[in-house]
Amino acid sequence: MRASSVTAQRAGRLSARLAVRDWAWWQLPGAVRAYVGAVPLLALVLTGLAAAATSWPASDLGRFLLLLSCGTVSVVATPRVAYLQAGLVQDFLTAWVLPVAVLLPPVYAMIIPAPLLILTQWRVHRGAVYRRVFTAAAIGLAYGAASLVFRAIPASFAGAAPGTGVHALTWTAAVAAAEVTGWLLHNILIVTAVKLSDPTASVTEVALNSEALVGDFTQMDLGILITVVVAVRPVLAVLAVPTVLLARRFMMHAQLLAKARMDTKTGLLNASTWEAEAEREIARAVRTRSPLCVALLDLDHFKMVNDTHGHLIGDKALRAVSGVLREQMRSYDLAGRFGGEEFAILLPQTREDQALAIAERLRTVIAALSVPVSDQDESDRDETPDDEDEAAGDERPVPAGRHVQVTVSIGVAALDQVGSELTTLLAAADAALYQAKQAGRNKTRLATERPLARIIPVARQAPSAASLTAIHN
Ligand code: GH3
Ligand code: MG
Ligand code: MG
Repeated sequence: MRASSVTAQRAGRLSARLAVRDWAWWQLPGAVRAYVGAVPLLALVLTGLAAAATSWPASDLGRFLLLLSCGTVSVVATPRVAYLQAGLVQDFLTAWVLPVAVLLPPVYAMIIPAPLLILTQWRVHRGAVYRRVFTAAAIGLAYGAASLVFRAIPASFAGAAPGTGVHALTWTAAVAAAEVTGWLLHNILIVTAVKLSDPTASVTEVALNSEALVGDFTQMDLGILITVVVAVRPVLAVLAVPTVLLARRFMMHAQLLAKARMDTKTGLLNASTWEAEAEREIARAVRTRSPLCVALLDLDHFKMVNDTHGHLIGDKALRAVSGVLREQMRSYDLAGRFGGEEFAILLPQTREDQALAIAERLRTVIAALSVPVSDQDESDRDETPDDEDEAAGDERPVPAGRHVQVTVSIGVAALDQVGSELTTLLAAADAALYQAKQAGRNKTRLATERPLARIIPVARQAPSAASLTAIHN
């Protein structure tokens, strides 16, 4: 009974996957869809041509299977949490692809990503199939080219084996050159896809941030070491497996730590991290008698945005506002997501007139934002707005065509003017925010007096609508 229902489920999943019209790939914008489709097609054609031009001696197949087995162990040992919690971690797959590219004909490097990524999809984490296919193709093309580059280097420098003396060094340098080629092409293929889907994405943020570079460098280094070891004695590749696992675990730990500080939706600091860092900054400002301000931002009539366009567009607007905060803030300012549609900003070394100017600039830039509403997102529209919205009397943000505009109200409080504790500063900023809302929203207000009874809890995570109403009304 149970076995037959499992079989039926599997058959259902299989037929769903075979329903070509339902593939997520079709949902991609035209240019991205064409690119993400063209790269695997190109890889397939080139792999076919390379296969036809390759002879297949058993010794090559033996080395290939050995490295594939090591890669397989590395994939199977990937904790699921690496994908679920830390986003896409450095999977260190290319550490196994490089030795294949250097020690075997190019076709092997073009083939090896496929089984490893099928295994990732099947055993570790189910992601969008087109992404896995694209990744396999991108690695295959990049390291196929790396293999050709290695072969193009004269035998006096490179060749089939490392040799001894100076040749061992030049051989290793040639392996490094092949790795740099593979890394570069792989990144170019990926960054092109990212740029096509989001032209505003920054290459520095996507591929050249320090964390990605440290991970890439570790991966390159391991790839080169494994290649040298396998060139000397293939079976020694087995010794590299624990090293790769350890390096990946270390990278993952760093990634998880960074993630634990962040609000996943917006990439800003989460409430508790913001609070802890703000406390520290305030203590420092008190000690050094430096000026400091705190600002609270709350999106105006945000419930209406959700009710009109759905939560996906609401989230998109939240991310757009967070993007403005990130771009406009100085490196030593702290921006955090304080609750649902509330943000907290800490401005060290800032007097209240400067803080007001910064807040006004933020308010203006956010009001000028235009968040596109795509067809797909609009299908999420909630047709039944809540009664609370019907009752609200103020001017509402009206979606302009295919775009949504949002505004924020901001309350600013300065250290010493209203108090010297985080809770007091926040309560004062919240009271000023309340005044900004009362004054018609899309306004900035400065707290001019110490808050009395309106002490609000620090770091309220995603406050309920009721608690927000209590604060603002
Ligand atoms: P006001 O101008 O008085 O601040 O009105 P408002 O509608 O923004 O305030 P209210 O407190 O009534 O509603 C806040 C809304 O923010 C309700 C909630 O659905 C929405 N919200 C909170 N967190 C999220 C989120 O993570 N994503 C989305 N899309 N909406 C969120
Ligand atoms: Mg709010
Ligand atoms: Mg609001």
